[in-house]
Amino acid sequence: MKVTFPDIGCAGIIAGTFFRDLGIDYIPALPPDNAEEGEICPDAPEDMCLPFKLFLTGLDDAWRRGADTAVMISSGGPCRLGEFCELLKAILDRRGCRYRWIILDMPSEVGIKELLRRISVLFPELKKGRGALHLIRKLHDAHHLLKEAEAFEADLRRNAGYYEDPKAVNRLISACFEELSQTGCLNRAFDIMGRYRWKSMQLNRDFSRSPVKIALTGEIFTLNDMRANRRIGDRLTELGVCFEKDITLSWWIRHTAAVSLKKILPLPPRRRKAAGSAASGSGKESLRGRIGERIAGKRYLSCEIGGYTKESVAFAASGKIRGMDGIIQIFPAGCMPEIVGHAILNRVSEKEGIPVMTLIYDELSGEAGYLTRIEAFTDMLARKRG
Ligand code: SF4
Repeated sequence: MKVTFPDIGCAGIIAGTFFRDLGIDYIPALPPDNAEEGEICPDAPEDMCLPFKLFLTGLDDAWRRGADTAVMISSGGPCRLGEFCELLKAILDRRGCRYRWIILDMPSEVGIKELLRRISVLFPELKKGRGALHLIRKLHDAHHLLKEAEAFEADLRRNAGYYEDPKAVNRLISACFEELSQTGCLNRAFDIMGRYRWKSMQLNRDFSRSPVKIALTGEIFTLNDMRANRRIGDRLTELGVCFEKDITLSWWIRHTAAVSLKKILPLPPRRRKAAGSAASGSGKESLRGRIGERIAGKRYLSCEIGGYTKESVAFAASGKIRGMDGIIQIFPAGCMPEIVGHAILNRVSEKEGIPVMTLIYDELSGEAGYLTRIEAFTDMLARKRG
């Protein structure tokens, strides 16, 4: 069995380490580096959003490199995400990529028994009633590693404007992820993280600077996948801009687990609320920021409209309280929830007095156009800051 997993941000790297650590062959489902510039699988429906097209291209490529089992995490929803698994399977079957599919739906949707049955295809020991504890421990370690990797990058990006050589920040982050992708052992991966944390502390900083600060918000895939967002993180860092984002992959795992728990556990209402709030926020933000996010978010969008637009609007609306100079919203062409979010953010900008720029990514536009707009926006914020 050779497993693959649709790549998003550093999740593919961590999934690879996790599977290899458990002795399972893993083949990353990486779309080629230039996939976003037109080399998308030709059978991808034109009107689907970019994450779907990149997933399809990556899985198609992984099949040709020997993968035979696709693991997908699925969460239903009013946006197109709810259709991803079925559509991916139908198109890939038609292209001759006859994967064995292991769809990890939320336990609240399929029940814990069914979820365990699906997982046991990957880990046959579970069928004999063995290995559950070992697996839980490894899952916990993998989640912890993902949190560490995201926090390592977030800390550097949050302070990017203070580093004397911002390019060194980019080099350090890519070297760290490159080394992580080569390891097949979770313990070794933690050693690598520790080493790179230490290296990050050796970078020279200049605290007399007053860099521009930006809140980066929008659709989860585009926010976290550097192929989809044309390395916006690297570009902002090179421009000496500090930025924060709150919708991360480890946040998504906590959020999904909490939502699932709320549905399946018969908790009294007060405890249920606590389970929900345990998932909110990136964990490192200030109490003031979190309270501001809740209040401001409710003022502009109080219900779920698909994706994580409710959360992204709340984060943007609390930008001023967090000390941000501006907001950049990013999402892929065809993303229904974020199009609604875009209209709401115009109002946020007007009412809160904070500039907002929206970037819409598709597979056909080149990097130069995005870079020009980012430069113009950050220049304007720097002038405003004085
Ligand atoms: S949130 Fe937007 S981009 Fe993401 S799956 Fe839904 S429609 Fe597609």
